[in-house]
This record gives sequence, C-alpha cells and structure tokens, in this order.
Amino acid sequence: KPFPILLSGAVQRGFGRGGKDLGCPTANLPDESITPMSSVTEPGVYYGYAQVSREKDGQLVLSEEEGKVLPMVMSLGWNPFYKNERLSAEIHIMHEFTNDFYGHHMKVMILGYIRPELDYVSREALIEDIETDKRVALKSLARPGYERYQSDPFFQDDV
Ligand code: ADP
Ligand code: MG
Repeated sequence: KPFPILLSGAVQRGFGRGGKDLGCPTANLPDESITPMSSVTEPGVYYGYAQVSREKDGQLVLSEEEGKVLPMVMSLGWNPFYKNERLSAEIHIMHEFTNDFYGHHMKVMILGYIRPELDYVSREALIEDIETDKRVALKSLARPGYERYQSDPFFQDDV
C-alpha cells in the first residue's frame, strides 16, 4: 500500500501564483524533498497531516503555534517550469497562522488521494472545489484508524 508517504524539508518561496489571493496559501517543499512521492506520480489532490517547526542544531523547536500536527490538503502536479518533467507539491495547512513560515521545517504525511487534477473554467469553480477538498480531508481524517497517525513518531523525531 502506498500510504503513508512521508516528506520533509525547508519551506520555499513559490511562484506567488496567488495562493493567498484565493484564500488558500500553499507552502512549497524543495524539489529533492518530493522524491518519496515518486511512488505515486498521479497528479491531483491528496490529504494528510502537516507540521511546521523551527529547527535549531538538528532539533525541532516546538512553540505554541508551531509543532502542532494539523490537517492538510496537497496538490501534486507536473511543473510547467521544468517542461512538465518534474513533480511539484503545494501544501495548504488547515490552520490560520499568525505569520508566514518561509524557511521553517515542514513535515508532511500523505494518507490518501482525493481527486485527479482538473482544469477550471472559472476562479469560482476552483475555489469551490478547494472547499470540497478541505471537507473531504477533514471527514477522512476524522474516521477511526486515522487519529493514530497524528501522534506518529515521525512528528516527534528530530530532523
Ligand atoms: P508562494 O507562491 O510563496 O507559495 P502563497 O501565496 O502560496 O505563496 O503562500 C504560501 C506561504 O504562506 C507559505 O510558504 C507559508 O509561509 C504561508 N502560509 C500561511 N498560512 C498558511 C497555511 N495555512 N498553509 C500553507 N501556507 C501558509
Ligand atoms: Mg504557494
């Protein structure tokens, strides 16, 4: 079985393609951090958990806001910037953060697949689908058998 898939790395600046404008900021991991996703190259939307934390001397610094294991939806797609030869992943965490967390360490656990990548005729249609994805993710993660992943050692171990 392909899941869970574990990714981690420092959050990078994206192309600023309006994640925040759509009310849906998406955090990016460096290309090399996406490698474990190569076992499932199906473009589309996935769900699971994510954790953001600062890292100092190889150890995770867990503050009040950071360190929490939070629900996330991830969009996986072939990156046009690399002639569609490389995958890129954009992660939206279902939490209102007080500040941006560029450069901070992010761990991502992918637990399931929601839907294939779609082309959108309008911004409204896209926003509506993102809302559906978030609901599907929360419903899935609320099912018995999933909560144990939130306390998985992956999120407790240092970098
Ligand atoms: P970029 O093109 O740089 O990815 P976005 O508009 O997609 O710009 O914003 C992503 C950034 O917003 C993340 O790197 C992170 O620092 C910040 N951010 C704030 N809240 C969230 C959230 N709930 N989920 C993901 N990123 C968030
Ligand atoms: Mg983004």
